[in-house]
Amino acid sequence: AVDLLTLGESMVSLRSGGPLSAGGSLSMHVAGAESNVAVGVARLGHTVRWAGVVGEDPHGQFILRQLRSEGIALHHREDAERSTGVMFLEHRTADVSRAYYYRSGSAGSTLNISDVDAALRGGARVVHLTGITAALSPEARRAVEYAAERAAGEGILVSLDVNYRAKLWSRDEARAALAPIVRHASIVVASDDELDLVAPGTDVAAGSAEAEVLMAKRLLEHGVREVVVKRGAAGAGAHTADGRWEVPAVPVTSIDTVGAGDAFTAGYLSALLDGDDVAGRLRRGALAGAFAVSTAGDWEGLPRTAELALLANHAAGSTQ
Ligand code: ATP
Repeated sequence: AVDLLTLGESMVSLRSGGPLSAGGSLSMHVAGAESNVAVGVARLGHTVRWAGVVGEDPHGQFILRQLRSEGIALHHREDAERSTGVMFLEHRTADVSRAYYYRSGSAGSTLNISDVDAALRGGARVVHLTGITAALSPEARRAVEYAAERAAGEGILVSLDVNYRAKLWSRDEARAALAPIVRHASIVVASDDELDLVAPGTDVAAGSAEAEVLMAKRLLEHGVREVVVKRGAAGAGAHTADGRWEVPAVPVTSIDTVGAGDAFTAGYLSALLDGDDVAGRLRRGALAGAFAVSTAGDWEGLPRTAELALLANHAAGSTQ
């Protein structure tokens, strides 16, 4: 069994250096929340498998090649009828990037239950899922739900990153689709503005610290063991039955925030796989997130184990 199995859509991302309306050069990268986490966890020393569907096109070959070169085991299907999804990532300002998707009806959106069955056959310690894949098509949503149910049934730890994408579905659609998935999740990772999509409603206005505590409490009552909340430059927190933890962000110069959340999740899950406690998981998550925001690319700058110390020392004020 691998340490981590994750499944979803990876796309070709064409990145601009400035406003797309001004044209100019684009560079070709692999993008996908789950494959970002796969790269992060693999670089931190764990065995990882990624499952997904690509088209029978050079774009798909590029994705497979990149993931293989990161040491990730693949369980993929190639769809001759459909294309690999493509997106443009417009680096509009240092802190604001905008995504434009050309992914509807893509090969990746056809991920189905039999793909999940095949991927799960090898076993895993942790299965990591995201709300993005659930948003792609009815069959992808069923596949994610099935993955959560089957993995939990087999005693595999299920991690879910809410990862709400307004360009893919409404908040109400997300809420309805994620409810049956959350039921099987042990770890729920959400940005502070996403928690209400998975936590049963409270009367307190969303966004306040009080609302977060109430929503986390509800999730913990419904079987989730760790509720992890990402707060961008304000760090991250976790709620468990034993209490509450907070970690500040590692101070770095932010040049590209895309992928910070996935980097954080990779750090968190890698520390969990290493047997670290919740505080240690948060610390490694924050470190990996800091690497992501202070390097260019969605995942290219993610740290290897020996590199974690570069920013750990930085955080402690060292000049190394
Ligand atoms: P995205 O969807 O763009 O990947 P996200 O909302 O899922 O982002 P964030 O909360 O922005 O995720 O970032 C995840 C983690 O990365 C934060 O909890 C923090 O530890 C780290 N991080 C984010 N922004 C910064 C920053 N400017 N400086 C240092 N660390 C940061």
